[in-house]
Amino acid sequence: MSEHEQKTDTPSRRQFIGASIAGLATLALVPGFRLIEIGNARSPDQPASAAQRWGLLIDTDKCASGCTACVTACDVENGLVQTGRPRTDAQWIRKVELKDKSTGESHSLPLMCQHCAEPPCVDVCPTGASFKRADGIVLVDRHICIGCRYCMMACPYKARSFVHEVLTEQKAHAPRGKGCVESCTLCVHRVDEDRQPACAEACTAAGHDAILFGDLKDPNSEISKRLKSRNTTQLRADLKLNTGVRYQGI
Ligand code: SF4
Ligand code: SF4
Repeated sequence: MSEHEQKTDTPSRRQFIGASIAGLATLALVPGFRLIEIGNARSPDQPASAAQRWGLLIDTDKCASGCTACVTACDVENGLVQTGRPRTDAQWIRKVELKDKSTGESHSLPLMCQHCAEPPCVDVCPTGASFKRADGIVLVDRHICIGCRYCMMACPYKARSFVHEVLTEQKAHAPRGKGCVESCTLCVHRVDEDRQPACAEACTAAGHDAILFGDLKDPNSEISKRLKSRNTTQLRADLKLNTGVRYQGI
């Protein structure tokens, strides 16, 4: 596999792609911009490195029930809401309420792509459109996605959505297209500029500070220190996907 863990182009995959050329022709992407360019590199001269693994730690004790600052920030940052049009299926981060049956305690938390180290979405993708960067960020290359939605079925977190409609407003850093599947990119365009994802920034700005972004491989990062010193968990840890998004307080 290449650095980006894309699959090789086997004869059966080529046939599958060939049968789907018509679907590819309908994609409406930002002119002159390919997501794969973000996918491959932090900058033209700085490839994503396996020396890092980017992740999030979400403190459910700090996440406020009813607050959707992270959801709104994600919508705005990635152009998920089209002016004057109703909300569509596209939602890269959503708020869920978890209730502990034994204690009756409930927790509010944001749920997004968990940036799995062993991502089933990548395993089932027939074209290589779903891929994992060397630094652990899982992405979809819209230019290769044929909209089969296998990845949506494979994702245990229901973290992916399908674009049904023609999009009229897009952000150059987050190209989207009708007929493609998409999910949280961990704001890879920001990460590559040494900035934190929009959800984490918005949560802090809203006064909650429930989302911590950082390098899971750096023992001196705040996220690594917290992971060592607190009880944290992975959602559906039983699946052994080694998620890049961790939770504390649940
Ligand atoms: Fe793939 Fe779902 Fe894991 Fe994200 S959470 S990497 S979409 S399997
Ligand atoms: Fe790959 Fe998902 Fe697109 Fe199918 S829908 S090609 S599995 S990314």
